[in-house]
Amino acid sequence: MTESAKPDLPPIVQTGAAVLRARAHEVATAKLGSSELRALVATMLDVMRAAPGVGLAAPQIGVPLRVIVLEDRPEFVATLTESERAEKERVAFAARTIINPVLELLGPVHDRPVHFEGCLSVDGFAALVPRDREVEVTGYDVDGSPVRWRVTGWPARILQHEVDHLEGTLYLDRMFTRTFARVEHVRQRFAAKPIAEIRAELGV
Ligand code: ZN
Repeated sequence: MTESAKPDLPPIVQTGAAVLRARAHEVATAKLGSSELRALVATMLDVMRAAPGVGLAAPQIGVPLRVIVLEDRPEFVATLTESERAEKERVAFAARTIINPVLELLGPVHDRPVHFEGCLSVDGFAALVPRDREVEVTGYDVDGSPVRWRVTGWPARILQHEVDHLEGTLYLDRMFTRTFARVEHVRQRFAAKPIAEIRAELGV
């Protein structure tokens, strides 16, 4: 799953490493738009795509900086049934880079969607994780221009997951622990099953 197509790509750091549990540093204003930062973002996009994944935070390649990349490709979304897409509110979106992201959770807090979530740094596992349905993120793009992105559904989930990485937080800290499972079990037991049924079965 994390086998990379390009031999020169850095490996994805796995859970247990200190860098995944530390707060990442702000990128200095003077570095915004720099060639150094562009090179980091290009590497992160390559690593994310090779994995393949839908998001990556710089600490996941051992770089303790507040940089995230996200991309949900049409071919990924196409693997889901229409009802899965609807339940997850999953829609394809083009690659985005957000530097020094500031996330605002927009709720609703009383009715947070729950879905299986995995992480390239917790390779081979997944668990049910509640997240806010809607968020707004502000920050800077790779050119150093300010960005603002308000999203609902699956892109909002990816954003919350990636920004968590910058705080040293993993989905493991937010999951319903009874649902933590190897991905092959999740596929065999729960593929295309409504979340309410899965929750009832697992007692969460
Ligand atoms: Zn992750």
